Amino acid sequence: MDAKTVGGCVALFIYSSLSSAAAIQAERTIRQGPRNDWNRDEIKAVYGSPVLDLLFHGAQVHRHTHNFREVQQCTLLSIKTGGCSEDCSYCPQSSRYDTGLKAQKLMTKDAVMEAAQKAKEAGSTRFCMGAAWRDTVGRKTNFNQILEYVKDIRGMGMEVCCTLGMLEKQQALKLKEAGLTAYNHNLDTSREYYPNVITTRTYDERLETIKFVRDAGISVCSGNLILLLRNNRAGEAEEDRVGLLHTLATLPSHPESVPINALVSVKGTPLQDQKPVEIWEMIRMIATARIVMPKAMVRLSAGRVKFSMPEQALCFLAGANSIFTGEKLLTTPNNDFDADQLMFKVLGLIPKAPSFSEEPAKAYEAETCEEAVSSSG
Ligand code: SF4
Repeated sequence: MDAKTVGGCVALFIYSSLSSAAAIQAERTIRQGPRNDWNRDEIKAVYGSPVLDLLFHGAQVHRHTHNFREVQQCTLLSIKTGGCSEDCSYCPQSSRYDTGLKAQKLMTKDAVMEAAQKAKEAGSTRFCMGAAWRDTVGRKTNFNQILEYVKDIRGMGMEVCCTLGMLEKQQALKLKEAGLTAYNHNLDTSREYYPNVITTRTYDERLETIKFVRDAGISVCSGNLILLLRNNRAGEAEEDRVGLLHTLATLPSHPESVPINALVSVKGTPLQDQKPVEIWEMIRMIATARIVMPKAMVRLSAGRVKFSMPEQALCFLAGANSIFTGEKLLTTPNNDFDADQLMFKVLGLIPKAPSFSEEPAKAYEAETCEEAVSSSG
């Protein structure tokens, strides 16, 4: 940015030239809207800004782009638990690890509809169904059953999301036809670090599923899993979190949802001894995601149960605007319903209404320099 580019905004230029990367990129995002041409060093610099500055500028972009009081409530139900052939090293549902989890068949329609109704009554506007599968190939009967579930839950006036493993193009189209709102397929970490986490399917296979979902007109939900910060070859480093955000922020369209997950280590998995993720790591991820993908719903997801209300408040301030509610997140514990109700009351949060727009993300209207400055003040 220079004084010529921004016309009369000389004051803004002087301010930015003295500021952190978070400040500079947040101002640029507010002025120009979402962009897909991020380079990795730009995102690295934002991520590495002083944490309170990063939090502040994440909050600025958030307030500029969203109703900052609105938080989307989603409920995630495991409709087919355990017995998965994949080796995701964080997952208790993999059949390769001895976690004591019993594999179950696909839940019946009555049981799923009952859970969806309960979630709706508790304030959820999006119902997500997860199945522990590598993919849905060769599971025609189960897949057709899930199409029915999607149709009926959509008929209840809820947004519907699925996470069923890798998809083929035709399956994505059928899910769209059934009324699916969003499909979750996390990339988890950077391309470089990914083989340390999963060996049974590739990064490119995951990106292909995301492409099929996007091409079918379904919103993409894709994010990360924060493992452990260790700056050596064995552990996920900050560089890998930046790499993941860079991959997502340079997709042809940003994901509509970006879940930020803190590992909940489960006994029996290869990551059972990982130390808990610190709140500052969450805040860095959330605020950076908010600045580089301003329109996305940034979801404070797995591991929220470990954070206190004040810690969660900092996450909302940094730019998170979506949570999972309900007793469990697939197979791991989640926050208590009453505690969440109290948190909404204390923090002045309001539930976000469901959206059935065919457009995954509304066009972002670039504002003038003056408007941007006034709204971020
Ligand atoms: S994360 Fe999904 S694909 Fe990986 S082991 Fe667990 S259920 Fe299977």
